[in-house]
Amino acid sequence: MAAGYTDTPIIPATNWHVHDGERPQPRVVTPGNLSDLPPLTPPSDAMILFDGSTASAENWVSHKDESPLTWRVENGYMEVVKGGGDVKTKQQFGDIQLHVEWAAPFHIQKDDEGNDRIGQGRGNSGVFLMGRYEIQVLDNWNNPTYADGQLGSIYGEYPPLVNAAAKRGSWNIYDILWTAPRFDGDQLVSPAYATVLLNGVVVQNHAELIGPTGHKDVYEYKPHGPGPIRLQDHGNPVRFRNIWVRELRGYDE
Ligand code: MG
Repeated sequence: MAAGYTDTPIIPATNWHVHDGERPQPRVVTPGNLSDLPPLTPPSDAMILFDGSTASAENWVSHKDESPLTWRVENGYMEVVKGGGDVKTKQQFGDIQLHVEWAAPFHIQKDDEGNDRIGQGRGNSGVFLMGRYEIQVLDNWNNPTYADGQLGSIYGEYPPLVNAAAKRGSWNIYDILWTAPRFDGDQLVSPAYATVLLNGVVVQNHAELIGPTGHKDVYEYKPHGPGPIRLQDHGNPVRFRNIWVRELRGYDE
């Protein structure tokens, strides 16, 4: 059992409250040595969204007002700057294969009272597909939290199948297969689906999304077109590197 909430709505088709601390903790799996390797080379047809260069950082803007990126770009990575806000790609996407590498801080941050940050306060960020649907990023290595907010969760909807977190401070590798939702006017025709590998381990297998991501709540789909890839500023200096995407045929054809 982990700290969580029971005053939140029930997640549709489950018996669990959103962020329920009693929802079972995913089993821990130690991933292979992928995170010890240098950044993996993208395939030849990938669109490079961030390769560590300041030029590629220009693919990213503030989520709020589309002003230039204020995150730190150095040593081949970009790092969340507290108060810098969420960032997003200038480009919009539908169905994609997305590769993202990220790392939590090496040392556990302290809270205002000088205690170790725990749960959602430790190495929290996120990868939002189409700007709306969050695959959680969290320092979940020896750090329990409610199941539907763990690393590899579809936040507030699906816990990861297992906890395959790399050791604190080392690089984690996300490979995400994303099928965008389809709409006909105001009507949802088919929901979004996500398959997610974390460090080479499946953590979501064709999960059918209930709706866009919220905190302590459940939201219904609202029609939308293609959307950006968005990275979250949750106040923790999480680093990102080697971000690329392959657009998959089928969306808007
Ligand atoms: Mg997050």
